[in-house]
Amino acid sequence: MKSRSLKQDKVNIITLGCSKNLVDSEVLSGQLKANNIDVIHENGKLDHNIVVVNTCGFIDKAKEESINTILDQVSLKQKGRLDKVYVTGCLSERYRNDLESEIPEVDAWFGTLELPFLLKQLNADYKSELLGERLLSTPKHYAYLKISEGCNRTCAFCAIPLMRGQHVSRTMEDLVKEAEHLVKNGVKEIMLIAQELTYYGLDIYKKRMLPDLLNRLADVEGLEWIRLHYAYPSKFPLEIIDVMRQRDNICNYLDMPLQHASDNMLKAMRRNITRNEMQDLLQAVRETVPGICLRTTLIAGFPGETKDDIEELKTFLQRERFDRVGIFSYSHEENTSAHDLVDNIPPAEKEARAQEVMEVQQEISYEKNQEKVGKTFKVLIDKKEAGRYIGRTEFDSVEVDNEVIIQSSGKLMPGSFVNAVITKAYDYDLEGEVV
Ligand code: SF4
Repeated sequence: MKSRSLKQDKVNIITLGCSKNLVDSEVLSGQLKANNIDVIHENGKLDHNIVVVNTCGFIDKAKEESINTILDQVSLKQKGRLDKVYVTGCLSERYRNDLESEIPEVDAWFGTLELPFLLKQLNADYKSELLGERLLSTPKHYAYLKISEGCNRTCAFCAIPLMRGQHVSRTMEDLVKEAEHLVKNGVKEIMLIAQELTYYGLDIYKKRMLPDLLNRLADVEGLEWIRLHYAYPSKFPLEIIDVMRQRDNICNYLDMPLQHASDNMLKAMRRNITRNEMQDLLQAVRETVPGICLRTTLIAGFPGETKDDIEELKTFLQRERFDRVGIFSYSHEENTSAHDLVDNIPPAEKEARAQEVMEVQQEISYEKNQEKVGKTFKVLIDKKEAGRYIGRTEFDSVEVDNEVIIQSSGKLMPGSFVNAVITKAYDYDLEGEVV
């Protein structure tokens, strides 16, 4: 196939990494569309002539995936199937100088705060009046809402502040306006995201404003579910949980990355919290919202981690019985404070430890899912796949959590809610029937 250089440009955006990156790609798409430029996300066909790769630079595996994707696109350009390849996002922000000389075939590199320059390169103008308007890449009924950018924390392992800068909150007015706009266009569920949700407001309002923001968002008519991702545990403002209890459309769901449970590791990771403090916090959260679904993320193989530390983490999981757990193997990132430590655990051992921890969680997850059999839940239908409907309860977020698989002879519309009784449960998924 020939490139489209003689025709009108068509831009394909490829997004790697997390939901925050996805939102950036959606904002870029919205800006291009407003400039009357043909734009598509993750185009399966090769009928575009320009590619923007929005990269991730969080850990080794993500960097590798980003570089492979760039190389694939460069190879298409060399075969004459693309006119231009541009790269943006975290990897580009962090390693632009090295990458420019290593992959000179890329036409231009952009950092995370350079959207106007990227648009200029694509013959588009940045339209500030579009604040919050974006082309969703998710199904019509749910969307992510990024409430702030960057992070002021100093977790030893984390490269995110290097790529995303200091915490910058968006104003409540903008966020409410955006939520209203999304709901008007069919969104039923909004997932609040940020590098660190609980810090929201401290920069622009000089106090933590997440509880106020939640109340304002919960007032948006037609918004059925609001879900909270990525809350930092140290000095966690419990008012957030009070609002969750008071407002029906805030899901009883909290994603709170804890990273570890051994005090040695928490201290080395600079998490500003101890195991006992975390236990007290979890107890307070559960007492305020009984039945709340708690999700956490952990790291295995941080420098100096001992077998005893891993045992402590496993005991903590058995005690706290989280509903959902994700785990990463530690990645030794330049320019983080942990990089000064010796990365003394071999990769295979890191993986083995992560696996060991997940085995503990797998059993807990299976037991918790079994307790749901026979109970009825409100389920949001996400899609139809292989003749079955796939949905989620308020206790499950998109992609990372359980799915509810529903066989139904009647037609169920994606974006609609049904009541379903759970008939079967597995480690990480449920089966149900509409009642
Ligand atoms: S709070 Fe999260 S984003 Fe911020 S430094 Fe810690 S791990 Fe990184």
